[in-house]
Amino acid sequence: ADGAPQDDCLFCKIVAGHIPATVVRETETTVAFRDINPQAPTHVLVIPKVHYPDASALAAAEPTVAADLLRESAEVAAEDKLESYRVVFNTGSGAGQTVFHAHAHVLGGRGMQWPPG
Ligand code: 5GP
Ligand code: ZN
Repeated sequence: ADGAPQDDCLFCKIVAGHIPATVVRETETTVAFRDINPQAPTHVLVIPKVHYPDASALAAAEPTVAADLLRESAEVAAEDKLESYRVVFNTGSGAGQTVFHAHAHVLGGRGMQWPPG
């Protein structure tokens, strides 16, 4: 895994601009866009431009980019004026991961229960 774009990956297509998305922030290494099926008033996905199947694989291969996801998550929350927010990395299909390109969910703007269910 060298982070190369995958032809069959939805989020690689969003990075390439081949599928439209409501982009809220972009950096050299990341893109942040609104989730198509939002679970909270703010529901933004922060993804690396490189392709790894999940956040842990990204962290193992490119730790500085994994840290960028966390910094950008905070920037997204600040732009939406969130005092509190949740950052979620679903990892594995049993945990609800459906897109196998690393991504952070940034959720906020409503009360949060723990655990999320
Ligand atoms: P996962 O379930 O893998 O943790 O998260 C994938 C997320 O991607 C889901 O919340 C889903 O709503 C979102 N998603 C799936 N397809 C698209 C799309 O084409 N555009 C956008 N903006 N979000 C998508
Ligand atoms: Zn990808």
